[in-house]
Amino acid sequence: MTGGTSHRWRYRPGFLTDRGRARERNEDAFDLYVPDLDTDHPFAWFAVADGMGGHDAGDVASRYVTSALREALLAELEPGEPDPGAFLERLFQRIHRDLVALGGETAAGRGMGSTLTVALVHGDALTVAHVGDSRLYRLRDGRLEPRTEDHSWVAEQRRRGLLTEAEAERHAERNVLTQCLGLGGPLDVFLSRGRVRHGDRYLLASDGLYNEVDADTIHRVLAEEGDPQRAARRLVELANAAGGSDNVTTMVFDVLEKTPGDTVAEPVASEAAPAAGGPSKWLIALGALVVAGGLAMGARGLLVPASPTPVPADTVAAADSAPAPRDSTIAIPDDANRGGTP
Ligand code: MG
Repeated sequence: MTGGTSHRWRYRPGFLTDRGRARERNEDAFDLYVPDLDTDHPFAWFAVADGMGGHDAGDVASRYVTSALREALLAELEPGEPDPGAFLERLFQRIHRDLVALGGETAAGRGMGSTLTVALVHGDALTVAHVGDSRLYRLRDGRLEPRTEDHSWVAEQRRRGLLTEAEAERHAERNVLTQCLGLGGPLDVFLSRGRVRHGDRYLLASDGLYNEVDADTIHRVLAEEGDPQRAARRLVELANAAGGSDNVTTMVFDVLEKTPGDTVAEPVASEAAPAAGGPSKWLIALGALVVAGGLAMGARGLLVPASPTPVPADTVAAADSAPAPRDSTIAIPDDANRGGTP
């Protein structure tokens, strides 16, 4: 890619996804795309998805949305795109429609959905597009700030002043989503536009992190740990030490201004999945774990509020003795034609 908007930034990414200590499968997925230093390609992106559905539908959904995102960004996002937010909004709606159709094709696909949180850096612009309860945080000038709003029932209650933050964090229904890709009617995609700065650090995470690890601890790890990969790993370890009741995915990336001395790209070190081979000018890593085995109910269910089941902190679920997953649910009223629970 030549001409146009030159890319000022280099990125130091670190990422890890883990099944956790209770779940039989990992239904989280992630993807990132970082231009090599000697290109002037104008964009990079970082994405986390958390799938839901019976059998392997959650895995299918989260991998579907991350790969559909990648395909579209590579094929369709023009270097001169004037409004990356509008682009992502249209793309989310399309992925949503396609996933609804995919889920309707088989009985096993019923209830198939996924969150998707994307941070797209395009030139100096940071565009965040998001549906569900995965999150993006930004550490800047020592302050950690959420950059997404959860599409969850407790978050809605909190925004209306009906629950305190502390109540929302402990609430039995904290896994109930109000929207996600693949389920329900038209999406109301969360969009935010801003600018990246030299020295920014971002964290994308699935709910398996922040439901186990409090914000102060997340802040401390991000502020203390210089290496993004070590930070990503420490956060996963803390989530597992706190119970690991859900799959957990963390992706940390630092934004740094390119300097003339930067001649070699930072290696992308994935402990979760090997970096996929790709065009030599790019660092590409696609993260999506394929875990064998079946489970009657995935990480989330559809339309059935389920009580969280306490999971022994030191138990790794075996295939024949898996504790009931801490199901979360999605309450979407116009979904009746898609059947009941998986
Ligand atoms: Mg989750």
